Amino acid sequence: MNGEEKTTLALFLDLAGDYLKDGYKRDRQYTPGFFPDDAVPSSLPLAYQVDEDEHDEYTNEPFDSPELKTNDIDTAIRNCRACALATVKKNAVPGEGALHPLVMVIGEGPGADEDSSGRPFVGKAGQLLDKMLASIELSRETNCFIANMVKCRPPGNRDPDPSEITACFPFLKQQIALLRPRIILCAGRVAAQNLLSKNQGINSLRGEFFSYENIPVLCTFHPSAILRDESLKRPAWEDLKLLRAKLNSSENDA
Ligand code: URA
Repeated sequence: MNGEEKTTLALFLDLAGDYLKDGYKRDRQYTPGFFPDDAVPSSLPLAYQVDEDEHDEYTNEPFDSPELKTNDIDTAIRNCRACALATVKKNAVPGEGALHPLVMVIGEGPGADEDSSGRPFVGKAGQLLDKMLASIELSRETNCFIANMVKCRPPGNRDPDPSEITACFPFLKQQIALLRPRIILCAGRVAAQNLLSKNQGINSLRGEFFSYENIPVLCTFHPSAILRDESLKRPAWEDLKLLRAKLNSSENDA
């Protein structure tokens, strides 16, 4: 029996236990934690080393085009079994947006709405994120790519745990390497700490630029935190202005 089958069986036994006890299904925050036997290795052998002159025979796109490579990454994400989140998700959420983005936004991980739709930041926090981006002339339709630290929903909206982040990080690295955004915006503590390998809280990481693989990184509050605490709106707006100013100056340099 492989890890996925063990997890399915354990979830079924839990459900049967609930039924026998009192017929009331309990919400469980954690998966039973059987890791699949076919977990993908941490460096993923995606189709990167292709001959630059080769073209897809149907679309005639060059094989190294961002379109085809993001499709490869998306497929690898959807097929991934590197951690137990894969066994309880409805849909993996690879990310979406412009393929030559000015800004790549990195959130924490999908919530319930994202898990149902397979799209990042589509719930209330996502609607706020879209408004924040629009206020500085950015959008996922034109010039931003939206991604997350982990691509499958942590049950009950808990933080992704370190092993889940480690298992998923190669995908994000590949997305960043492929898309080469002009700036990365980390939304919230989990993205900020893990991308930058830092331990400080978001209050001390926000408001200044860091660097990841020579790409400037700005951190700000997660839109969910702003929805919970209105007083974060003003500092978040200061961060957005910083982001816009940096983009303007890099546009002048280009
Ligand atoms: N919160 C996140 O961090 N990411 C999403 O995609 C949705 C909510």
